[in-house]
Amino acid sequence: MRIVLLGPPGSGKGTQAARLVEKLGIPHISTGALLREAAAQGTELGLKAKEISDKGELVPDDVVLDMLEERLHQPDVKAGFILDGYPRNLAQAESLEKVLERIGQPVDEAILIDIDAEQIVQRIAKRAREEGRADDTEETVRNRLRVYAEQTAPVADFYAQRGLLTRVMGDGPIEEILQRILSVLNIEHGND
Ligand code: AMP
Repeated sequence: MRIVLLGPPGSGKGTQAARLVEKLGIPHISTGALLREAAAQGTELGLKAKEISDKGELVPDDVVLDMLEERLHQPDVKAGFILDGYPRNLAQAESLEKVLERIGQPVDEAILIDIDAEQIVQRIAKRAREEGRADDTEETVRNRLRVYAEQTAPVADFYAQRGLLTRVMGDGPIEEILQRILSVLNIEHGND
């Protein structure tokens, strides 16, 4: 199964993706995590990307696409994937469609985790305390929400036009949100 998880920063995409990995046994591909890894390794590209990310802006499309393509060519992707943090704009949605077509792995489901801005600010403040991410300061969060509204929100329409989009309410406990996602995927939620 090939799933794209959409939703504003702080909507819980990463958390849900981790739970879905346990359930479905397919890899979680997070472009944010790939970029953070590159930065931690201190590569020139990684450090440049970090400067941009720390301001809450999007890293250039070609940089992220290269990184993503490399990941998509690894053998574990044959089983499917949960993509989180990509696509972030319409150009990326189009690139992704082409790449996946080439490898014969088109998206099966795009799931948008819907949540209001006030809840996001609270969640991100909590994550900042717990994980200490440099892009979780209040000013950056505000910028990331603006970038999301302007550039990423239209990606939902891209998938809606292809009949692939389902919206899931992102409020409530993690387990309840997971249940909503699993029912979209027609998967029963066990007690494990
Ligand atoms: P995330 O972990 O998905 O919240 O991503 C953290 C940051 O990494 C974002 O605010 C962007 O600066 C950068 N980033 C992650 N994914 C992308 C992408 N698909 N395109 C551009 N920048 C990205």
